[in-house]
Amino acid sequence: MKTNQYSGFHKLTMEQRAAEVAEFSGLTEEEIGRLTNPGALTNEVADHVIENVIGTYQLPVGVAMNFLINGKEYVIPMVLEEASVVAAASNAAKMARAAGGFTTSYTGNIMIAQVQCIGVANPYFARQNILHHKEEILAIANEKDPVLVKLTGGAKDLEVRIVDSQIGPMVVTHLLVDTGDAMGANAVNTMAEAVAPTIEKLTGGTVKLRILSNLADHRLARATATFTKEAIGGEDVVDGVVAAYAFAAADPYRAATSNKGIMNGIDPVVVATGNDWRGMEAGVHSYCSRGDHYTSLTRWEKDADGNLTGSIELPTPVGLVGGATKIHPAAQACVKILGVKTAAELAQVIAAVGLAQNFAAMRALATDGIQKGHMKLHARNLATVAGATPEQLDAVVAKMVADKKVSVDYAKEILAGMQ
Ligand code: NAD
Repeated sequence: MKTNQYSGFHKLTMEQRAAEVAEFSGLTEEEIGRLTNPGALTNEVADHVIENVIGTYQLPVGVAMNFLINGKEYVIPMVLEEASVVAAASNAAKMARAAGGFTTSYTGNIMIAQVQCIGVANPYFARQNILHHKEEILAIANEKDPVLVKLTGGAKDLEVRIVDSQIGPMVVTHLLVDTGDAMGANAVNTMAEAVAPTIEKLTGGTVKLRILSNLADHRLARATATFTKEAIGGEDVVDGVVAAYAFAAADPYRAATSNKGIMNGIDPVVVATGNDWRGMEAGVHSYCSRGDHYTSLTRWEKDADGNLTGSIELPTPVGLVGGATKIHPAAQACVKILGVKTAAELAQVIAAVGLAQNFAAMRALATDGIQKGHMKLHARNLATVAGATPEQLDAVVAKMVADKKVSVDYAKEILAGMQ
């Protein structure tokens, strides 16, 4: 295929879909095989990834279509187990296209490493003493990663905070490191350990923890999109989404589920590209908790023309070098499908997918309710579990949905009736 707008893509066979994606992304037969053939991650490789390995575990890879981000078409590989997410993302991306798709920006690949120092008699004086010696501290950090220094400049700045705690004030130094196309956890942790003796000398205190912060608020990706009222079903839908958003913004119980819906889009891309989804989750949820209560990651507003506008801003501790990205053969194929060349581009795609996924859920909730779309896909899973063959599947699903009885037992009953 030449474009990611492909009418009836879901009706193709798995082999046909894979061939279309391979053509779009320029994947070789060997590369697409890493996704289409089970066992791409061999036991030999897996045994070196974690400890006490006994085997591997597979999940489906789907592709979300229709995404237009900063004028470029993307096919988005998504690895997850939940039905209806990929379809919802594709549908949302299609609706966003009416007003030009998604626009994104990025604050840079800056990760934070924290150095905790306790037992300091005069913490405010010590704070300034650390800042007076900024260049010396950055130089010590940078000695640890000449590769990174050559690529990005490495450690670039310091912040020093006084954190009050139950064991007294702590002097917490943040090393701000440009980790380039790496997520950077290992890189910044090494630097934090290296500067610890100097921090102790400058403060008279004792350094304890030296570790990256997942609240990567110097590595923010942003995305916006306008959904025209015509494209999404009228001004009532616009108002419905804005009201749904107001609920999430005001109430942590609702925000938790709204943000879970956003992570439905984000985590599958993070996993597909071999990135650390726990780090991503920790970053997002801590970012949503900076104010006086946990709140929505997105904002939804009505513009002067009555259209719906959405925006998202989130920490994106993700990369394309290091971690599992370069080890997992399927992750490499997914990165090629995505067509991203830098961590910055990956972060911005992730932001756009999160915004799209949130829109899809908000629109469904504000109109038909979430179950209508979900049930059809859920019915497919249940019909398969009940033993429907590919030829029988559509008929069994149609009957379950029409009769509003979506269960394995009813699928079995329908199948028995068909024989
Ligand atoms: P890494 O250490 O494997 O690779 C990064 C290094 O690669 C850099 O230090 C640099 O020397 C080199 N490099 C080569 N080309 C580069 C380029 N173009 N841009 C940047 N660096 C380049 O990987 P990492 O990103 O430091 O570590 C990521 C892993 O750390 C993840 O798997 C994550 O799960 C894990 N981790 C996470 C946490 C956390 O989130 N809190 C903590 C510890 C470890």
